[in-house]
Parts: sequence; structure tokens; C-alpha cells
Amino acid sequence: MNKTLRRPVIAGNWKMNKTPAQTKALIEELKPLVEGADCEVVLCVPYIDLQAALDAAQGSNIKIGAENCHWAESGAFTGEVSALMLKDMGVPYVIIGHSERRQYFGETDISVRERTRAALDAGLKVILCVGELKEERLDDITAEVVRMQTKLALKDVTEAELENIIIAYEPVWAIGTGLTATPQQANEVNALIRSLIEELYGKNAAEKIVIQYGGSMNEVNAQELLACPDIDGGLIGGASLVAEKFAAVVAAASQ
Ligand code: PEP
Repeated sequence: MNKTLRRPVIAGNWKMNKTPAQTKALIEELKPLVEGADCEVVLCVPYIDLQAALDAAQGSNIKIGAENCHWAESGAFTGEVSALMLKDMGVPYVIIGHSERRQYFGETDISVRERTRAALDAGLKVILCVGELKEERLDDITAEVVRMQTKLALKDVTEAELENIIIAYEPVWAIGTGLTATPQQANEVNALIRSLIEELYGKNAAEKIVIQYGGSMNEVNAQELLACPDIDGGLIGGASLVAEKFAAVVAAASQ
């Protein structure tokens, strides 16, 4: 499979960090550091920061995303935000199925599928997260878990809609822990996801889909991970909160 067919995507996931004022400051600091990037640069930020992020990023190469969205267009879902609301305010990207949503907020493969469906229907680009728990890797069922999560999330997604899907392979044991999958471990699972896409949608779709790695990717290890044939970018948590660190990952993806 030809990696040059895919433009890398480096996306930050700020999680529950930064106020609107801090958002403006960080994006202003980041803009000159990433302006020449030869990859997509995305920042996924808390709902409360979205307007500040959109304003600060305007006219730059930084795209903004949300960290989740609901599956319904509107209704009695206190505390939730719909994909249509995000689209209406001009947000192009959304993360769906992050392991912290699955772990702490009861997100399931079925709700991930429904949220993905809603995001695509609203015209958003989805960063779909999949990945195994530490126990699942130790039990040697990583392949089964990742295949199942991916297949269930994409069940109703057509080949044309796949253009708006990025898959982020994020081994749960590597998220926020400082433990990174080795390039070989990460590439092996990314390749497995790509072969599932080929099985479901054909070779052309498999060659085009962007599959990121996420899990303690940072300014030190990014280059080696991003050099792997099936790793087309990164979903970056901790390192996305520091402009120089995130910019170094963007630089590594631009090589
Ligand atoms: C994430 O939040 O998706 C993530 C990969 O976090 P970290 O880079 O901090 O491990």
C-alpha cells in the first residue's frame, strides 16, 4: 500500500484542559510554529473553548474539532451537544469513541456507531478511536478487539462516507501513561485495521484511509512512529498542550 496517497493528520486532544483565554493564547503561540506544515493540523478542544479556538485559528492552517457529539439532532439530553450544533458553529472535526469516554462515561460500540452516524450526517469529519485494554493485549486478543470495535462503528458507513473518517488506533494502556506502543506494535495494529478496511470496502478505500496512532506520542518518539508504513498521523493528548511539543510532532509528520 502506497503511503504517499495519504496526507498525514496530526490532531491534538486537549481533553478537559484550558479555558477560553488559555485556548486563545496557546493557538496564537502555535500558529507561527506550524504554519508551514505539510500535514493536516487539528486541535480538538472542550466545547466551551470551541468559539475561542475557531476565532484564534481563523486564517491559519489549524482546523478545530470537538471531543465528542451526541447521536440525536436535538432533544432532552441534558449536558450533551449535537453534531448539527457543531456543524452550525463551523467546527469541521469531531473525536468519537475515545477510550476515556468508553471507560468513564459508559460509551459502547453501539453508541460510538450512533454518534459516528450523526457526525457523518451533519457533515463532520470523524476521528474514530479504537484500541485494546492492557488485559486484552496480555490475553492476546488485540486483533479481535480492534477488528470488532472498527467493524461495529463502521457498520452503516458507505465507501463514499469513509472519506470523512480517520481511524485512530489508541492502545488504552498507552494513553496518558507515558507508555508508548513500539513502532512495530503500533504499525502491526494499524496494518490490521487497514486490511479490515480492504476486506469491507476494497483496496482503493484501504489505500486512502488515514489511520493514526495515539498513546503518549510526543516530540521524542513521533518521528519513529510516523515513519512506519501504516501510521498516517497521530492523536496527541499531553503533548498537544505545549506549543513547542505539538509543533515538533507536526514537524515530524511533515518530513
Ligand atoms: C489521547 O488523549 O488520545 C492521547 C493519546 O493522550 P496521550 O497522548 O496523553 O497519551
